[in-house]
Amino acid sequence: MSKLIAASTPAWQMRGNPHVWMPYAQMQTLPLPVPVVRTEGVYWELADGRRLLDGIASWWTACHGYNHPAIVAAVAKQLETMPHIMFAGAHHEPACRLAASLAAILPGDLDYVFFSDSGSVAIEIAMKMALQYWRNIGQAARTRFLSFHDAYHGDTTGAMSICDPVDSMHANFAGILLPQLSHAVPTTRELQQQFEKVVANNRNELAAVVIEPLVQGAGGMRFHEPDVVAQISHVCQKYDVLLIADEVATGFGRTGSMFACQQCEIVPDIICLGKGLTGGVLGMAATVATKRIYDAFLSDDPACALQHGPTYMANPLACAAANASLELFQQEPRLKQVAHIEQILRQELAPCRDITGVVDVRCRGAIGVVQVAAMHDLQRVRQRFVEQGIWARPFRDIFYLTPAFVMSESELLRLCHIMVQTIKEWSAW
Ligand SMILES: *Cc1c(COP(=O)(O)O)cnc(C)c1O
Repeated sequence: MSKLIAASTPAWQMRGNPHVWMPYAQMQTLPLPVPVVRTEGVYWELADGRRLLDGIASWWTACHGYNHPAIVAAVAKQLETMPHIMFAGAHHEPACRLAASLAAILPGDLDYVFFSDSGSVAIEIAMKMALQYWRNIGQAARTRFLSFHDAYHGDTTGAMSICDPVDSMHANFAGILLPQLSHAVPTTRELQQQFEKVVANNRNELAAVVIEPLVQGAGGMRFHEPDVVAQISHVCQKYDVLLIADEVATGFGRTGSMFACQQCEIVPDIICLGKGLTGGVLGMAATVATKRIYDAFLSDDPACALQHGPTYMANPLACAAANASLELFQQEPRLKQVAHIEQILRQELAPCRDITGVVDVRCRGAIGVVQVAAMHDLQRVRQRFVEQGIWARPFRDIFYLTPAFVMSESELLRLCHIMVQTIKEWSAW
């Protein structure tokens, strides 16, 4: 056990630490997590009074920064009125407003919104929608999914089956997962032809192709161009295979447009939203389908109905936060801010190209990635960021920044400066 308990460790952390099981963490060697007592704007405040500039907006969620007064007020008001009711058989204004707003801003006829509580569950629901769509129209043999190398779609069992089969965090479960198809993202002519062949050959079994459009997230932060996604969509239409866009990470402005699909000029059959949906305030996700999908569930047969219903579905507090967040996107120049962040990230991270061990630097929207040949000293480098007053979480072969869209230029410059300096240091270790 190498968990250093510093003199400043708060009593609540001493008491809870032995009992709290942390995510993606080897608990035997995990350093003591930072004790956070407050957030404000783009900062975390630690128990000893230090502040950390958050470079990754709490896993891409807090796009308006923390404690945005508009979201805080909306949630507080909702808390007093109605914190939660079950959704079966009941409507409430926050959910109805949110569904209508999402339908209005999503491309094409992505108009039918099914709420859930996390991105992984939104993916499970999308998979079930696709499976049941085919069953409902008499093609029950369409049971396989095709996803891409370096994909990450979540941690639940269905979602794990469509993550990168070799290089995901889920290799331990390889033997028990549903057998699916996996293909390289078709970024070259040759790969496009291969991809089309695989879809054509498996068209009678394939329920859907699943893609994180433009930016693959936790599977390695790989980027591809809009025309690659457009081509995938074209092949899906040609062979009548459904397309599921996992925009849990890319949705809500992160790649420069409200949704990545808009840059690709495609309308997937199903889209999954999460992370930024509530502005990082409450856990919530949505799976949104086109009319074609929705209509296949309309029937005199009760068994044709979508068989899903999370207990906390459409939680009114989360809906209120999401409604306030969507209003902020309209009232404040978020997409302009993202474009400006992209410029600064490009300019400031570019010097990383000259650091030994760095193999690529890439930016898209409010996402900056520095890829290295091989990561080492991961815990030590994370610690170095904290010592210098920033919060960043390098993983795999990736250093990355996904700041809040409201971060000021001077804060962003400081963030990038520390990132570059720290990668330089790390490179010499
Ligand atoms: C984070 C993420 C998920 C899973 O969302 P959770 O809310 O963590 O379950 C799924 N897909 C993508 C692309 C993600 O980035």
